[in-house]
Amino acid sequence: MNITTPDASTDPQLSREDALAVLNTPDESLEELVSFAETYRRKYKGNHVSIHILTNARSGNCSQDCAYCAQSCRSKADINKYKWVEDEKLYEDNDFVKEHHLSRHCIGLSGMKFTDEEIEILAEKIRKMKADGTHLCCSIGFLTEHQAKVLKDAGLDRINHNLNSSRNYYPNICSTHTFDQRVANIRMLQGLGYEICSGGIIGMGESKEDVVDMLLELREIQPEALPINFLLPIPGTPLEHADMSVLSTAYCMKVLCLARLLVPKADIRCAAGREVYFKGEEKMLLRVVDSIFASGYLTAGGQGIKDTIQTIEDAGFTYEIESA
Ligand code: SF4
Repeated sequence: MNITTPDASTDPQLSREDALAVLNTPDESLEELVSFAETYRRKYKGNHVSIHILTNARSGNCSQDCAYCAQSCRSKADINKYKWVEDEKLYEDNDFVKEHHLSRHCIGLSGMKFTDEEIEILAEKIRKMKADGTHLCCSIGFLTEHQAKVLKDAGLDRINHNLNSSRNYYPNICSTHTFDQRVANIRMLQGLGYEICSGGIIGMGESKEDVVDMLLELREIQPEALPINFLLPIPGTPLEHADMSVLSTAYCMKVLCLARLLVPKADIRCAAGREVYFKGEEKMLLRVVDSIFASGYLTAGGQGIKDTIQTIEDAGFTYEIESA
């Protein structure tokens, strides 16, 4: 693969070796790599950045043991735990999305399995919110096909279900479910017509080959959105003392370039870790990614949003806010 002469008329066709070479790009050649990836960012996303906001509808008490997660059964992190967020809050958020013409309202739920009764309760909430015409996304665990259909019939548009790491490395971060269960869940959802948001976490001790293999799997899946999280170790989780020295800004950038080159049409999102690993390098970041999280919630005085918008404008991009 020649990264110095991009041909925007065709998408890059990277082999596994090419992909590994992207992650092994010498730091002195990073600018060429970023320019190459930028060609496809501009081709599919123009000058546009979407900003996502995180809200949690269910928090804590998960039966699963994902090593990075504060909500897992082996986490001792001090977090807020609740089964359903107050309806008032959920619908207020949805009203906010509608009133501000935001492109999506996403609902994050901790946990991997839900009863049919819980899904019916969620479906009812989705029906109410869809009556407002908002585009809805749920970050939710494994659904049965029946449950996925119930939510689809209620109007749910998109589901977030991350691969998180490679098939090979997955047992190192989770023992309560498998990588293949995640892939099968996504395939089932795609079969029902759902849009998919799926990505991963970098910095959990995986090799570069693992990063490549995860992204190659995502190329097969072709999600509409591909979030990349850079680990922020949480006290009280098994990864609280993870060695983060591997996450230089240059390496993080190479991972995002690879995501853009392998799945060029997807929204490539720099999710967790942006403020830490790209501080002062936002202009370079936005040349490759077209989607980011803001650190503060979207309220009248949401400073996180203001800062994020300023960053985007300073870098010469236009923005749109999404609730996620
Ligand atoms: S399944 Fe989700 S909520 Fe549960 S531990 Fe894993 S990442 Fe956390």
